[in-house]
Order: sequence, then structure tokens, then C-alpha cells
Amino acid sequence: MLELRPNCECCDRDLPPDSGEALICSFECTWCRDCAETKLGMRCPNCGGELVARPVRPANKLAQFPASTVRKHRPEKCGEAA
Ligand SMILES: [Zn+2]
Ligand SMILES: [Zn+2]
Repeated sequence: MLELRPNCECCDRDLPPDSGEALICSFECTWCRDCAETKLGMRCPNCGGELVARPVRPANKLAQFPASTVRKHRPEKCGEAA
């Protein structure tokens, strides 16, 4: 099951579970579309894997299978000052 992390690892913007702006790699490193396209070249800087759109979990499933609330923020990985 996907963790559905709550933010972009690069710019720390919120990516709620119903966001269409979230992209993930196979390890679920999570990025917003802006960073993925403009800074990352659609590749995960942590693992080198491709980034794909994160599926949206239906709201009626989120109560039973809640999204992660653990924020990961590592801006040094995507070329921003830490
Ligand atoms: Zn971002
Ligand atoms: Zn990754």
C-alpha cells in the first residue's frame, strides 16, 4: 500500500492524498509536479528512478487506510539550499 506522503521532498509544499500534483518513484519518494518537471527532469534524485503520477486514494478509503503524516524534506537533493 502506498504511504501517500504529505509533502514534496524538494519544496515542502503540501501534497494531500487527493492532489493531482504529486509524483512518486518506485520507493515512494514524493515530489510535486513543478519540482519534478523544472528541477528533477522527471527522475528521482534519491534513487534515479522514473517519476509517475501518484494515484489518488478515494476519500471513503482514507478513513480506513489513512495517508502518512511523516514529512520528508531534503531540499539538498534537488538543488535547493538546505
Ligand atoms: Zn516541490
Ligand atoms: Zn526515489
